[in-house]
Order: sequence, then structure tokens, then C-alpha cells
Amino acid sequence: MVHAGRCFCGEVEFEVQGKPVAMGYCHCESCRAWAAAPVNAFSLWKPAELTIRRGAASIGAFSKTANSVRKWCTRCGGHLFTDHPGWDLVDIYAALLPSLRFEAGVHVHYQETVLRIHDGQPKMQDTPREMGGSGLTMAD
Ligand SMILES: [Zn+2]
Ligand SMILES: [Zn+2]
Repeated sequence: MVHAGRCFCGEVEFEVQGKPVAMGYCHCESCRAWAAAPVNAFSLWKPAELTIRRGAASIGAFSKTANSVRKWCTRCGGHLFTDHPGWDLVDIYAALLPSLRFEAGVHVHYQETVLRIHDGQPKMQDTPREMGGSGLTMAD
């Protein structure tokens, strides 16, 4: 299965193949400020599955912290992905993959939430242990 995505203006086009490693919502302050939205709907992939088809020279990058390299189109400002080199994963914003059937399996950084989502999925206080977090869960 190949999913195609593009930035807001279409200058940057990309494809990702296979299945995401995980999908869910991140409630952290960094994602909210970056996305200008109350949550970030993420889909995590192995970086090798992502191919930039067009506009690679128009991709900007910014790192506030070492494990998150946030990328956008320098022409329209539309957001694209966040590289997580420490996890060897890339978050392709679910909103950019219209053919991906998004099913949140987990909420991360729920202790920072400004938008409670009562969907019955696990609410991690920060992140799972295998991602360096406490692994603790919270009430829905
Ligand atoms: Zn663009
Ligand atoms: Zn986040």
C-alpha cells in the first residue's frame, strides 16, 4: 500500500509505503505550538518507507530538541513531517495522508492535554517506556 501526500501548496510531494509503526494523538505543548492546534494526529513510519517525489529543495527544518526535527514547505509554510532520529522514526502528520485509514491506538503526553478525547484508547502520561518515557497511563 502506497500513500501519497503533499504540502498545502503542492510544491512538496511525497509517498510512504507499508504500514505505520504506530498512530495516535500527541498532546504535548511542543506539538500544539508547532501545529497551532490542540493535538497532533501522528503516524510513525520507518524513515526508509518515505520518499520525497518533488520539491525536496523546498523543505525547511527546525529542531527545538534533538529528537524532533520538524519540517515544512518553505514556499507555503505547510507542515510535512517530524523526524525523530533517536527513535529511527518519522512522524508524517496523519492529516497529510488522505488514503491512510487513521486509527488512533494511543495518546501520548496526555498530562499536558488541553483537549480530552474520550475514545477508550490508552492515555500515556508521557510516552511508552520503549520510547524513553515513564510508561504510566492516566484516566481517559
Ligand atoms: Zn507548499
Ligand atoms: Zn508532541
